[in-house]
Amino acid sequence: KRRIGVLTSGGDAPGMNGAVRAVVRMAIHSDCEAYAIFEGYEGLVNGGNMIRQVHWEDVRGWQSRGGTLIGSARCMSFRERAGRLRAAKNMVLRGIDALVVCGGDGSLTGADVFRAEWPGLLAELVAEGELSQEQVEPYQVLNIVGLVGSIDNDMSGTDATIGCYSSLTRICDAVDDVFDTAFSHQRGFVIEVMGRHCGWLALMSAISTGADWLFIPEMPPKDGWEDEMCSVITKNRKERGKRRTIVIVAEGAQDRQLNKISSNTIKDILTQRLGLDTRTTVLGHTQRGGAACAYDRWLSTLQGVEAVRAVLEMSPQSPVPVITIRENKIMRTPLMDAVQATKDVTAKIHAKDFDGAMKERDAEFKE
Ligand code: ADP
Repeated sequence: KRRIGVLTSGGDAPGMNGAVRAVVRMAIHSDCEAYAIFEGYEGLVNGGNMIRQVHWEDVRGWQSRGGTLIGSARCMSFRERAGRLRAAKNMVLRGIDALVVCGGDGSLTGADVFRAEWPGLLAELVAEGELSQEQVEPYQVLNIVGLVGSIDNDMSGTDATIGCYSSLTRICDAVDDVFDTAFSHQRGFVIEVMGRHCGWLALMSAISTGADWLFIPEMPPKDGWEDEMCSVITKNRKERGKRRTIVIVAEGAQDRQLNKISSNTIKDILTQRLGLDTRTTVLGHTQRGGAACAYDRWLSTLQGVEAVRAVLEMSPQSPVPVITIRENKIMRTPLMDAVQATKDVTAKIHAKDFDGAMKERDAEFKE
């Protein structure tokens, strides 16, 4: 029977467990054996009982659970060829030549590197006498498929990453909670949300909560934004009678000179210029944890099933695919195209080409 491994890597995200469950069950359904690799690439490099066969019942109830039950890690040794050599040996010894990796762009880049090196790694293992030619013979091609697990929604080529809607749900709940206080005391709240270099989660949060003002890295405010923000907020409060003011700040927010715009800076502006009683709330890791929302259970299951299909249908020449969702269709996209487009946005932000960065982010919906 064919053996398919599954691992979660990089930052954890709700829905990763749903993805693992779907991969395990679809593998078994497809007459394969499923193996969980614990602690991300760490488990692949170390082998032993960090690679374990899993059965249908082992993943029961996993769909709703937050975090990742098979663990995740930042694995330095997998970044080195020597680590990947050990990983290849462990996989051949277990008879695993297919892998589904659920993680962010770093993890998926690692997966791509691993596949490209695979024939060379096997040759080296044979040359060094670690494995015999007969042992490696049946495993000449490594089939890898990526799933994007990240609360940041920071991968190009997919409308949603596994985890981002759970995080958005949590952010909305938190904003609803502070709304009550803000309304009662006519206060301002500055709320910082995660996303690293990416503003998607903050943008989704601002739209979903009807925020007064938003800061994202891709579209830094024009110089003089302090005046404009204050005038919009004053209008909302005085003319429109809004009792509470909400400003959402992405953790990567910055101005046009790439200076960080922090939640405290905004709070000080609102306090000093408008005399508004303003508080900051940094949501931090509460955005990452907790049960997966309905959408992430749905998405991770559909994508996990598709990942196994993709593994079984991959030809030796085809590039590593990542499973995406575009306009509600589950699709396969060449992994490195998506990773490269993601990197291009960040590069454009660093080069202060903000229009280009916005166009590039927007492009993922228009492809
Ligand atoms: P994320 O997947 O969330 O972007 P990281 O960038 O930290 O998180 O990557 C997670 C792990 O993936 C790293 O600890 C490392 O083991 C592996 N990895 C990342 N980039 C590479 C790379 N270029 N080559 C090999 N492995 C990598």
